[in-house]
Parts: sequence; C-alpha cells; structure tokens
Amino acid sequence: MRYSVFSLVANALSGDRFWTPVWREPAPKAAYEVVIVGGGGHGLATAYYLAKEHGVNNVAVVEKSYLGSGNAGRNTTIIRSNYLLPGNIPFYEWSMKLWEGLEQDFNYNAMVSQRGVLNLFHSDAQRDAYVRRGNAMRLHGVDAELLDRDQVRAIAPFLDFDNSRFPIQGGLVQRRGGTARHDAVVWGYARGADSRGVDLIQNCEVTGIRAESGRVIGVETSRGFIRAKKVGLAVAGHSSRVAAMAGLRLPIETHVLQAFVTEGLKPLINTVVTFGASHFYISQSDKGGLVFGGDLDGYNSYAQRGNLPLVEDVMEGAMALWPGLGRIRVLRHWGGVMDMSMDGSPIIDRTPIEGLYLNGGWCYGGFKATPASGWCFAHLIANNEPHPFAAAYRLDRFATGHLIDESGHGAQPNLH
Ligand SMILES: Cc1cc2nc3c(=O)[nH]c(=O)nc-3n(C[C@H](O)[C@H](O)[C@H](O)COP(=O)(O)OP(=O)(O)OC[C@H]3O[C@@H](n4cnc5c(N)ncnc54)[C@H](O)[C@@H]3O)c2cc1C
Repeated sequence: MRYSVFSLVANALSGDRFWTPVWREPAPKAAYEVVIVGGGGHGLATAYYLAKEHGVNNVAVVEKSYLGSGNAGRNTTIIRSNYLLPGNIPFYEWSMKLWEGLEQDFNYNAMVSQRGVLNLFHSDAQRDAYVRRGNAMRLHGVDAELLDRDQVRAIAPFLDFDNSRFPIQGGLVQRRGGTARHDAVVWGYARGADSRGVDLIQNCEVTGIRAESGRVIGVETSRGFIRAKKVGLAVAGHSSRVAAMAGLRLPIETHVLQAFVTEGLKPLINTVVTFGASHFYISQSDKGGLVFGGDLDGYNSYAQRGNLPLVEDVMEGAMALWPGLGRIRVLRHWGGVMDMSMDGSPIIDRTPIEGLYLNGGWCYGGFKATPASGWCFAHLIANNEPHPFAAAYRLDRFATGHLIDESGHGAQPNLH
C-alpha cells in the first residue's frame, strides 16, 4: 500500500477500515540467499538496499526480539555529518544525503528534521579544534559555520553564557544536521524491505553460526536451522557475542549508554545543542519532551539499563549548561548497549570466514549512520567488495594500525 495524502483522505472517509499491515509475519524458510542477523536500523536498511539497489530479495532479517527493540529504538535521534577525519567524512555525508531524500525514497514519514546541530566551545583551544573540524568539513563539501557568542545567544538565549567555569564563547553549527524519529526509521525500512519480498522474522534468536571448510552455510536459530549462502551480522551491542559463535574475537567492547526524556513542554529549543565542557547534549522532540544524554556508564555490560552515578553526572552537565532545567521533571530514562570499537569508528567488512560479513563498532553514533551503513553493507554483501565510502572501515585496521581515531583517545572505548 502506497501512502499519500489521497490514501490518507480515502481511509479517513472510510473509517480507517482498509489500512493493511505495514509488514507480513512470515515463518522462516529453510534457505535464503542472504540472512541478516539483527532487526535494528542497520540490518533493516541493509535488507532494503539489497532488494532495492541490488535486486537481491531472497533475504531474511532475523531478530531475536521485535524490530527496533535494540538501540534503533533507544537512541536520542541525532543525525549529523560533522566529522573530522577523511575515513569518516565521506561516509557520514553520504548518510546525510540519504537522510535528505529518505522519506520520499521509502514512502514513510520518518520525521527527518534538519533543525541544526550546535557544538558549543568554552575555551580558545576548543575554538581552535572546532575551527579545524569546520575547515575539514568544508573541504569535503559539508556545511559548517562558526558562530560567536552573540550568534549562539540568538539561538539559545536560556543557556548559562557566563558560567564561571565554562563560559560559552561560541559554537560550530551544522545546519543540515538535526533529528529523525528513530522508530519510524525502523518501520520505514522494514516496510520497504518487506514490500520487496524480504522476510522479517521476529522473535527468532540466532544461537549459532555454521560454517564448513571456511565458508558459512547458515545460522542456528531458536526457530531451527536456516541455510544461507551469505550471512551479515548487524547486531550492534551484541556484535562480540554473535561473532564469537563463529569463533571470531572482535576489537569491540559492550558498554551502556543512557537517555532521558522530560515531561512535555511548549516549543523551547529548536536545535540540538551539545555542551563542550562535559558530555551532555539536548534537543526537544516534536511531542515536546526534552531529550538528552551524556557519557557511557563506564563499565562493560549487556544490561539495557543504566546506573545512578551516571544519572547524577548527566544532571550536573544539564545544570551547568542550562540552570532552568532544574525545574523540569524527568519522565523516563533507559539504557542501550553500545558496540564500542577500539578507535571509535565502525567496521563494515568481510570476515575471515567466507560469506560472513560484519557490520558493527557503531559506538554511540550509529543512528545517524543507518542509511549509509545499510547502503554500504548491502553493496559489500552483494558484490563481495567494500563500497568506496566505507573502504576505511576494515576489520584488519586494528592489526595493521590504520586506525580512524576520530576523538583521539586511542584504544579506550569508555572514553570515545
Ligand atoms: C541512549 C542512546 C542514545 C543514542 N543516541 C544516538 C544519537 O543521538 N545519534 C546517533 O547517531 N546514534 C545514537 N545512538 C547509537 C545508535 O542508536 C546505534 O549505534 C545504532 O542504533 C546501532 O545500530 P542498529 O540500529 O542496527 O542497532 P540495534 O537496534 O541495537 O539492532 C541490533 C539488533 O540485533 C538484535 N540481536 C542481537 N543479538 C541477536 C541474535 N543473537 N539473534 C538475532 N538478533 C539479535 C537485537 O535484538 C537488536 O534488535 C544512541 C544509542 C543509545 C543507546
């Protein structure tokens, strides 16, 4: 069913009785050409582009819970391409370009909102770092603008500009950045993949990966063995556990990241703001809640919930940046499990097992990457060759030393 203003009016006038389900609920078949493990944004986008761009539609996406139950439905929805290093900028900018046409492409309202992303700076050194980042972006054709204190004040007058420790000096803004409704992105890709013949199999956990003579032949699941010529892993925070089923030890640690939402408010902040003095960022959802988050919890865990010291840390960041927040009530908070790579950049690559492909290491920035990740992973699986935009995201870079250390922290995932 194609969505349009006409289908909306027709269904409204007929009592909403003729909407069809957004996707089917098929039983797993015995064999597929490609099985994608993980029904988050990346797995679903991969299946969508495999079918749409490469004509490969004998595909199953196998998800242990419901679609979007992982980080795809738990993130703070920020999209941007304000990266510094050559390995990253073209990839994230391609993602931004895909975001810009996504809703028309998959005929679904993902509420993509280019409301801008503003990174504040609080010292001369930090300003210089942002000037460098902005120049790198512009050299790659990405929009970036340095704002002074008054220009920031015009956008967000309620911030604490004269904080005695962290006075706001200005900011780097990417106006094409912004937010997208995370679960609508999942549903849009799911619907687009399903309508092209992809089987989306929920409540089906992969429990083993079978290979013969160095070549993958399928996956063991809670609903039986599924044979496949190719298997793509897109399980985010579970990457190291699932890859271990094939005997692979990945340069990935899993950490918890929390997010927070307040009670609904009238429109208050019309952009995304990040605090430069601690890891704190905030935006407002279209429903009115302020959505914010901060650092990782700082210990390894697969539990999708966070701990209280980090709640306190995030609230400290909030109060230092925007003291008025102290009067607003937090309604909900939750955690997701992040696949933290050793240089903070992702992996989209073949593995030593023929026919087994890996998509992971997204850290806490993989939502914005969803379209390009799916696009490049589909290209890799279909052609057995990396897409040029993802050519740097090799698994062997941790052995060869060709790291993409965007944040300059080295092999310390909790600091990325
Ligand atoms: C609190 C929080 C805030 C964030 N904020 C942002 C942000 O603002 N911007 C941004 O760009 N990124 C953000 N991220 C990161 C982003 O959400 C992730 O990097 C991205 O969603 C990961 O890709 P995915 O969507 O495919 O992962 P997921 O949605 O986690 O998909 C992986 C799926 O694999 C399934 N799975 C795991 N094991 C198995 C198995 N054995 N068998 C079958 N299925 C399995 C899981 O159930 C899950 O559904 C945030 C993350 C969190 C938690």
